[in-house]
Amino acid sequence: MKRIIAALLVLSMALAFAACGGDAENTSPIDVDPTTPSPSPVGEDPAGLGLKREYSQTMGMVAAGYIHSLGLRSDGTALSAGHDYYGQRRVSDWADVVYVAAGKSVSVGVKADGTLVFAGKLTDEAALAAASAWTNVFTADAGGDFVAALLNDGTVVAAGDNSAGQCDVSGWSDIVAIACGDAFTVGLTADGTVVATSGAPAAVTSWKEIKKIAAGGAAAVAGITSAGGLVTTLDVAADSGFADLVDIGADDCGVAGVRADGTVVTSLGADITYDPDYNYGEVDLSTVTDAVAISVGAKHVVVMRKDGSAAAYGVNDDLQCDVGRFNLRPYLEKLSDTLSAVRGLKLGMTVADAKALIAASAGAADAQFAKVVSEAETAVADTDLVATGMKVKCDGADYGTVVLLGDVDENGTVDAADREFIAKVSTNNTRPTGYVLRAAQLETNATGQPFCGEASLALVDAHIAGTARIGQFSKMRTGVYDQLLADAIAANKDTVGYIAIPKTNINYPIMFDATTGKWYYNDHTPEKKESESGSIYAYYYGHPELKNTVVTGHNSRPSGSMFHQLHHIQEFNLGNATCAQTKYCGKELKDLPDLKIYSNRVWTLTVFGEETRWEMFSMYETKPGDEAYEIWLDNIWWPYSGDYAKKTDEKIHAWLNKQIERSEIPFDTTVTLEDHYLTVFTCGNEHADSNKYARLFFIFKQVD
Ligand SMILES: [Zn+2]
Repeated sequence: MKRIIAALLVLSMALAFAACGGDAENTSPIDVDPTTPSPSPVGEDPAGLGLKREYSQTMGMVAAGYIHSLGLRSDGTALSAGHDYYGQRRVSDWADVVYVAAGKSVSVGVKADGTLVFAGKLTDEAALAAASAWTNVFTADAGGDFVAALLNDGTVVAAGDNSAGQCDVSGWSDIVAIACGDAFTVGLTADGTVVATSGAPAAVTSWKEIKKIAAGGAAAVAGITSAGGLVTTLDVAADSGFADLVDIGADDCGVAGVRADGTVVTSLGADITYDPDYNYGEVDLSTVTDAVAISVGAKHVVVMRKDGSAAAYGVNDDLQCDVGRFNLRPYLEKLSDTLSAVRGLKLGMTVADAKALIAASAGAADAQFAKVVSEAETAVADTDLVATGMKVKCDGADYGTVVLLGDVDENGTVDAADREFIAKVSTNNTRPTGYVLRAAQLETNATGQPFCGEASLALVDAHIAGTARIGQFSKMRTGVYDQLLADAIAANKDTVGYIAIPKTNINYPIMFDATTGKWYYNDHTPEKKESESGSIYAYYYGHPELKNTVVTGHNSRPSGSMFHQLHHIQEFNLGNATCAQTKYCGKELKDLPDLKIYSNRVWTLTVFGEETRWEMFSMYETKPGDEAYEIWLDNIWWPYSGDYAKKTDEKIHAWLNKQIERSEIPFDTTVTLEDHYLTVFTCGNEHADSNKYARLFFIFKQVD
């Protein structure tokens, strides 16, 4: 996730009033990529093998790994879900990617220029360095501790652990697809047979007339036959419904396929279950319709639908099924009864490519484009670039109007003329209407209202300079807090976010008094009534140097509300049976988040316009006194002192080490200087007086 930092609002409150309590950076839903765009897609087929990516740069795809999932968007960027233990989820800076694969500890992206990008690592670090030098790559896959790539000439290369011969692929030729298991590689040849390394199940080499293959785990391989049927090394009953298959996935946990009618068929082991308390989008796959692509991981299944949304089923301890926010294809956004916008098309895409993509997304046989000039529709050529304001019909019926973020002069690119236009919008010298204005709305403010500020201009400048890219998938399809947040904003425009922690009573809007910048919500409810309990609130708004979002609320002991139950989480995980606050609470501690489980220590917040996930890496309570006061200032990165405002890597590094040292329970969270952090805190339990500064802290890193 990327951030755009707004100007600092001056906070003039004395420290003494800052009891328990928020600044966050202004966040933007705009995608910013630091890499320079690379050349156009390869798509070559020099060996005449009929190489064809069905789900790739223009169509999106999903990939399931051991404990993570990937989504490739049609604009060449990637999304991820699940655990980042090896850094395998660090794909947010990928660009121009046309194919993705997920292994155990590594994610692989094939770029349009035929090279590979990686996130995560292999035991053999030199292997990834070697693989980074491969060129002319068509597709790739990742196994347990190695990677393999199919080249455009039909040969295969592999690197990494070769203890089972899984990398011994040098003699292969005429290959059109590959797939990796934990410690083996299989290749589909142009004549429909399968070749395999020595560790693969032997049966696959006798298969004939295969048109697609998948593999995973110790010995799972599945193929689609030319008749659309299933062949697999797994034990699947003959009447399981595997027919008319168009896509297939397999791992030790079972096999899953997509049928031509968009339904999903599975034969999965009993160990694939999920925790309903952390059900962020897992679905009963038999209810899925409009599926087009599927991938099976170690213990979960991910499906992509026609419209580019994803669904997942299976074990979700590591949030690997948390793909509800994958928006992989352009989508229709309803603006009113009469207006709808098509977002997510790629800048520079031709009308021909956009037609194919929108037709596939909408489930239409055909899409048509027209330009509207003086209310009259005029034709556009297939070779024209897609531009803001073009009208789209699907099978003859009105579908929507294209909105390309940043392209306000409707020529299909973002350039200096757009910058000039947006600058005028910013200063109110120009008041465009309709889709042009929407295209200029590169960011939203704290209350979700569009505006064009300095950050918008900076983004356009960076895009023109080639140092950043304006992504076209700006709006999350859905977030878990969408409705709650909308309701809270409708009730009070000072709402800047929302936090709910599963298995607790913590379920509140996050407030910030942007008008005064003062601690109004320390002692006022979201309804603006005076109250000792106050609100949950953000500490700052948009501090320029801040990489640490701070959210706080009172430890309301008498009512057990606000952030009191943070103490329950702490004490439960320290092994206590009842709440230590015996005077007011003393509740039995059970059914609370178990912080040893990844999905229980990753919390979801929406704040300043963006819904994000955060993984805990430290939890501790300070005792009252001078040291507690210092720690509090240090943890909120108090911006008015060089000692606490962390402007150097050294200071951040020292702070991170202190958090990890102080934690009352160990976490195996990997945290780096590149991460963004979140501090959630409340007053101490036995020492709740704010002026004594005893505090309970939970410190997080952002995971998406
Ligand atoms: Zn309690």
